[in-house]
Amino acid sequence: MTKSTYKRPDGREYDETRKVEAEVGIIKNADGSAMFSFGGSKAIAAVYGPRQLHPQHMQDPEQCVLRCIYDMLPFSVPERKRPGPARRSVEISYMTKKALEPVLHLKSFPNTVIDVYIMILQADASTRCAGINAASMALANAGLSMNELVTSVSTGKIGDAIVVDLCKEEEDYKIKKDGIEIKAATDIPLAFLSRSGKISLIQLDGNIKPEELKEAIALGKKAAEKITQVQIQALKKVNED
Ligand code: ADP
Repeated sequence: MTKSTYKRPDGREYDETRKVEAEVGIIKNADGSAMFSFGGSKAIAAVYGPRQLHPQHMQDPEQCVLRCIYDMLPFSVPERKRPGPARRSVEISYMTKKALEPVLHLKSFPNTVIDVYIMILQADASTRCAGINAASMALANAGLSMNELVTSVSTGKIGDAIVVDLCKEEEDYKIKKDGIEIKAATDIPLAFLSRSGKISLIQLDGNIKPEELKEAIALGKKAAEKITQVQIQALKKVNED
């Protein structure tokens, strides 16, 4: 692990995530649902389908269409967020769909649609990761056959430290250079497939050297393995109840 003097604002170790909580079956009207949180970032996901896709011209005769909608609720951030889709939520919705698609057997359900709605109740960075984790559990809860789960976590470089699960204060980390404040945080959201370990999401906002990126991915993978166990426990719990 990188040697650095950087101290995390909440006192965590570099390889420590915030408190992870997961619950399945929280929305009775949905075919599948779940909640997932990383500390102050809390997401809920509801899955509907597979059901026939209307209008018909949008159907794919080869496979089911996966639609994902990610949004943050107006009260999820300190200053009210304007409701409705924006460039950021459209981008995150698309990346979420790409992160989840590899574990679903979409070819089994031609002409249908699966809708995944992800709402962020509280935002303190890494919300796309919390949303993907909630959605992955909600898809399993909907009874869809999946070979593996998707587990997402952010990593990054804060100052000269490689850390896992960035909070908002870390995402906004700045240093002073020649009296001018400059951003010194690199945010790397990742998603891993739980059995194969394959990566289904990688984004990067900031600067990082190739060897540091390798370190960040390894740190993320280790954290994701632990998070997968929390997701599995939550899925088992709802089946026992
Ligand atoms: P992620 O939440 O996946 O890290 P971003 O990096 O785009 O995605 O956002 C980081 C954080 O910035 C969010 O989790 C949230 O805390 C904050 N944020 C994003 N959009 C807004 C907004 N419109 N108003 C206030 N805070 C926001």
